[in-house]
Amino acid sequence: IDTPWPVPHRGSKELFERAQKVIPGGVMGQGRFAKPHPLYMTKAQGARMWDVDGNEYIDFHCAFGAVLLGHNDPRLRTVIDRTLDQHGVAFSAAHPLESELAERIIKHVPSAEKVIFCCTGSEATYHAIRRSRAHTGRNKILKFEGAYHGWHDYVQWSVHFDPAEAGSPEAPKPVQESAGMIRAAEEGLLTCGYSDTKTLRDIFAKHGADIAAVIVEPIYHNAGVVMPAPDFLSEIRRLCDDNKSVLIFDEVITGFRVGLGGAQAQCGITPDLTTMGKAFANGMPISAIAGKAEIMNGFAPLGKTFFSGTFYGHVLNVAVASGCIEILENDPPYEYLDSLGKRLKAGIQAAIDQTGVPATVGQHGSVWALYFTRRGLANYRDMASFAQTKEHPIHSSFQRWMLESGIYIHPHFIIRGYLNAAHTEADVDHLVDATRRYFIAHKED
Ligand code: PMP
Repeated sequence: IDTPWPVPHRGSKELFERAQKVIPGGVMGQGRFAKPHPLYMTKAQGARMWDVDGNEYIDFHCAFGAVLLGHNDPRLRTVIDRTLDQHGVAFSAAHPLESELAERIIKHVPSAEKVIFCCTGSEATYHAIRRSRAHTGRNKILKFEGAYHGWHDYVQWSVHFDPAEAGSPEAPKPVQESAGMIRAAEEGLLTCGYSDTKTLRDIFAKHGADIAAVIVEPIYHNAGVVMPAPDFLSEIRRLCDDNKSVLIFDEVITGFRVGLGGAQAQCGITPDLTTMGKAFANGMPISAIAGKAEIMNGFAPLGKTFFSGTFYGHVLNVAVASGCIEILENDPPYEYLDSLGKRLKAGIQAAIDQTGVPATVGQHGSVWALYFTRRGLANYRDMASFAQTKEHPIHSSFQRWMLESGIYIHPHFIIRGYLNAAHTEADVDHLVDATRRYFIAHKED
């Protein structure tokens, strides 16, 4: 859609013209672009976000789920001030706050015996996979189609792909997602449909002795909100045990968002390694790898798996993460968020029933998704068939409608949104009402 945004946008347009001269495409990556130009944001506070043209939005994007307590939480601002006063910004040297944060994570996350910090989710999955290869002396990792685990060559395969390129579901082939990836990475990769337990067993029967690790989102959020088939995670656990492969839960979205123990505490299945990011620092760039001591101790200096980054264990990030978990312990928002999530789901479901539009709403705790189809969705191939790309007309028009209604959802290929603890019931009702009005206006489309 090239028509202008339905909200005042002159400032964004001018910034885009300026940015394009110095920033490729004017944005930090394709995920932030939307036609005719991105909307440039200038402030976020609590549940609200403002763009440079003064439009105010209720933010249901929450920085891709990183914001859990609400934007710019005052309690964490106190932590930031205190940290700057007492410590400063960055040492790139060992400091006492690291152990405090590690102890908090170990207290809550079932798989965590030892913890190490980096900055982004991609770094966490990269190191976890490399560690798994070193631990097992094997080459292959197995990931599920439609799952995003970051931008690196180990995992950026078969994320938003055309199923026609990926072979049959019984014999899936990895589909490269970016130009410039090393082709040899494909040799180290196996793919399988999410919740396709039968194909998973077949893959293990054939390649089990070569599989260093399985990496899986315990809730399939990169496809919106899709729960695993009932036997899926337990079967992965069993196959990994039988074949001595490392099981990695990628809890970059679910960690500390669904509850203090993450999705693993909810489903009762404990992985060997866990990657976390986003919500546990309420928007500051920190991620973690946690897991069995036996595996974690293989990171240097104890073991031979290299681990280092200038900003790993960054003082301010570590302090905020620790402060954030302390707030989550003392004032847990989970019941409230779940009640808001259920309210959102029930409201949108009622709007679907009332208008008869072919749509499905998904929700788990504070994460929700809307699909413009009535078909049950279990894995990415189900979704790809109705082409929910970012360019999809329904998606673009829905996003525009929402912006006009004062609601920010991200221009993403799937309509997936988040709630944070600063959202109110009135905010949720506003979203539901705007969605109902959209359904009514587009009933015949
Ligand atoms: N794993 C999962 C499950 C994610 O959702 C994401 C980001 N959306 C990542 C890894 C990568 O995290 P980052 O963008 O911080 O590198």
